[in-house]
Amino acid sequence: MSRYLGDDWILPTLTPNNTPFFTSGNIQIQFCEDCGHAQHPPDDLCYACQGTNLVFVACPGTGRIESCALVHHPVHPALKDKLPYVIAIVSIDGAPGCSVQGNVVGCPPETVKIGQRVQAVFEEAQHPASKQQLLIPQWELVSDRPEV
Ligand SMILES: [Zn+2]
Repeated sequence: MSRYLGDDWILPTLTPNNTPFFTSGNIQIQFCEDCGHAQHPPDDLCYACQGTNLVFVACPGTGRIESCALVHHPVHPALKDKLPYVIAIVSIDGAPGCSVQGNVVGCPPETVKIGQRVQAVFEEAQHPASKQQLLIPQWELVSDRPEV
């Protein structure tokens, strides 16, 4: 899919910790093998027990909108023609207590509401410096009805 905020919009700088999330084509969440804690963004230490036995697990790629903002003001000149757009915080199925940020795409931005179910979709991009292929997680609505 083409990029929601445009092909010129800023790309993440890849690190060993964020590469699975931005290149795998699924929702990779870091889990601690010592205590089971799920965390995002990934780090070198477990936020709960400070353990270092961390692994990435592919989650189902679905979740729930916990918070969202409809953006009407361009925070960068490159976004002037993309308004309005939606930024959401999505709780990740299969990773209790873990949320990620992304845009909600493929629908009128004003229809996005807290409580809606979403599924991951992936924007393809090539990092200009490393030439590495990126698959950037974004979100699409799977239902108009809020969870009960
Ligand atoms: Zn831990």
